[in-house]
Amino acid sequence: MTRLIQGVTITGERRAIPAGAVDDLRAALRGTLLVAGDPGYEEARRVWNGMIDRRPALIAQCAGIADVARAVQFARAYDLLIAVRGGGHSFPGHSTCDGGFVIDLSPMRTIQVDPQARRARAEGGVLWGELDRATQQHGLAVTGGQVSHTGIAGLTLGGGIGWLMREHGLTVDSLLSADVVSADGAQLRASAEENPELFWALRGGGGNFGIVTEFEYRLHPVGPMLYGGLIGYPFADAVKVLRDARDYLATAPEALSATLVLLRSPEGHPLAGIAVCYTGDPAGAEPAIAPLRRLDTPVMEQLGPMPYVAVQQMIDQVAVPGLRYYMRSNLLNALDEEMIGIAAEHFARCPSPQSIVIFVQMGGAVARVSPEATAFPHRQAAYSFTALSIWTDPNADEENVAWIKSLWTDLRPKLPNAVYVNELSGDEGEARLRAAYGPAYERLAALKRRYDPANVFRLNQNIAPPA
Ligand SMILES: Cc1cc2nc3c(=O)[nH]c(=O)nc-3n(C[C@H](O)[C@H](O)[C@H](O)COP(=O)(O)OP(=O)(O)OC[C@H]3O[C@@H](n4cnc5c(N)ncnc54)[C@H](O)[C@@H]3O)c2cc1C
Repeated sequence: MTRLIQGVTITGERRAIPAGAVDDLRAALRGTLLVAGDPGYEEARRVWNGMIDRRPALIAQCAGIADVARAVQFARAYDLLIAVRGGGHSFPGHSTCDGGFVIDLSPMRTIQVDPQARRARAEGGVLWGELDRATQQHGLAVTGGQVSHTGIAGLTLGGGIGWLMREHGLTVDSLLSADVVSADGAQLRASAEENPELFWALRGGGGNFGIVTEFEYRLHPVGPMLYGGLIGYPFADAVKVLRDARDYLATAPEALSATLVLLRSPEGHPLAGIAVCYTGDPAGAEPAIAPLRRLDTPVMEQLGPMPYVAVQQMIDQVAVPGLRYYMRSNLLNALDEEMIGIAAEHFARCPSPQSIVIFVQMGGAVARVSPEATAFPHRQAAYSFTALSIWTDPNADEENVAWIKSLWTDLRPKLPNAVYVNELSGDEGEARLRAAYGPAYERLAALKRRYDPANVFRLNQNIAPPA
């Protein structure tokens, strides 16, 4: 069925929206309700991935928990598809939709830091760069993503991989509580004491269980000055350099984190890069990094002391919002020389100079948490692999998507059945979804039936509630 409200085509809903209901909702919200044609609608419907171009019927830019609850109740009353938006960085564009209702938390940016208790509370629209700046004011931090314009909400709910994880665990390992608007619009608190099963599910189960309006994190002393940067080696030596780096990193101190990367220099030359961050005592930084500087003759080196907030922005420019992106990712038990070779061989033929292949080193504190303790089960992963096609011209979509698919065809047979839920694309199918939740899937499915039996929150890496 297709009908119009206020000039907006809404497709697929089953219940009639009475005249004036949208106006009533607009009046009830503290935030802003947008429909097509409203000033700000075009900007508000944009998400990070420029490949995603959808037109929601309604966008509620929520000003607080009451707005979120009202928006959920409205969407349910009229069977509107809900998309939940934190930072808008979902790779497959799950935070927007055609014809449905985007519940946008981006105006909700309040952060409160309690330096004595080493805790922070942050609302669901906060971005990592904002939380990092607020916590670093007190020499504290929580593991956050490696790109500062990513949202805390989606990233935390999937697990949270970042520079601090080898010392302080995944983001979810520092999550203390979450305020949640449930599928029926009720307000719940989830923590080890309150709704502990929901709390477990939120730590890796993504956006399946409710809308988190506020996160509470345990903070750790970090920086403010750390040691970090990038070493670039000739691409011709990529396999040897990345293999030798892997060998050194296997026994390197946990204060050292590294991301191995195939990239192109600003002049367009392919490079084998090693991005590093050392979070320990500054005196230990140079000796810890020295073996990585001697792997070959570097063609570039940008290393040195830098504030943690700068480390967190080191690769911001690689993945700016609005470019076109397509990806494949997998968790690795070990980084084999053969995998590096396949990745390098494909990278040499990559059609876009902006594209990258990365291997993020995991381990350390991540691996010390039991696989059952949270809904992120892949605790023993040694690396997270991601190949990201990045380009600007819509006419080049086909060749850039094809490049990833061809790399994936060659690499996939070598890889274990495990992927980080936040790095799944939208076109990978049920088996890969299962690979993301791994052994946590059945427990998550039972909790989905309890907390969202109607699958109201389904625009995500969806766990369908069992019948
Ligand atoms: C450039 C870039 C860099 C990245 N780097 C890292 C990294 O270093 N480490 C890492 O772990 N991941 C990383 N990711 C992946 C990232 O974790 C996911 O893309 C994540 O979903 C982004 O969160 P968001 O709030 O910005 O996304 P959004 O698109 O706003 O949300 C994504 C999904 O999360 C859910 N969601 C969002 N907000 C809420 C909420 N308040 N309550 C309930 N559900 C919600 C919804 O299902 C939504 O569809 C990166 C992604 C990008 C694009």
